Amino acid sequence: MVTVLPRLDLPASAAALEGAAPQAVVRWALETFRGRVALACSFGGPTGLAIIDIVMRVDSRTPVYYLDTGLLFPQTHDLIARVERRYGIVPRAVAPSLSLAEQAERFGEALWARDPDRCCALRKVEPQRAFLREYDAWITGLRRDQAPTRNATPVAAWDDEFGLVKISPFATWTESDVWRYIADQRLSVNALHAEGYASIGCMPCTRPIRPGEDLRAGRWSDSGKIECGLHARKPGTGSAAS
Ligand code: SF4
Repeated sequence: MVTVLPRLDLPASAAALEGAAPQAVVRWALETFRGRVALACSFGGPTGLAIIDIVMRVDSRTPVYYLDTGLLFPQTHDLIARVERRYGIVPRAVAPSLSLAEQAERFGEALWARDPDRCCALRKVEPQRAFLREYDAWITGLRRDQAPTRNATPVAAWDDEFGLVKISPFATWTESDVWRYIADQRLSVNALHAEGYASIGCMPCTRPIRPGEDLRAGRWSDSGKIECGLHARKPGTGSAAS
């Protein structure tokens, strides 16, 4: 596969895609980065399920992956199995190099409670970095309304952290837009939403949210941490060729 990155005018593409429907953004992404784009899904919120549905309608060969930290809820694994049956795909489980036992031996028990940034780096960020080396672009479920840290999310931009283009087809949609799509298409979602969970990650770091809290308030709520590191840096909008 030949990379398109040297020829891509990413700022112009991003400007043209601003306000476009997610389906149009997905079609652009899959055509532009044919064979070199992967779809990330946490199976912990509704947006990823909507994106999988749209991507599968355009090209069901698109690689779908999730970060299998070893600490996901059973309900998340149940949802992955339902998605596998619905679309006839097997999302790739991207795992850390250290097992939980090896991590405990090297860094002590329950690292997430003492140093969640290091735990996320070991179990999410570095495994994703290794996985994405094969690709020129990744598709995410980020939306501007999810948190103040995400309110400037571009539809497409260069991702300095991972060194490829990052595409967020639902950047401009709201939570209620996504739930309407989920209902219209009768998509399965994580069973924990029915128990008050909004954004669902690893078991030790996720709790249900209370009325009035923002959608990500249930993540790392015992610490000041608000992002796992996958989306921590504000991406630049410069040309991918530069
Ligand atoms: S979300 Fe929690 S348990 Fe999961 S990798 Fe990050 S700190 Fe570790």
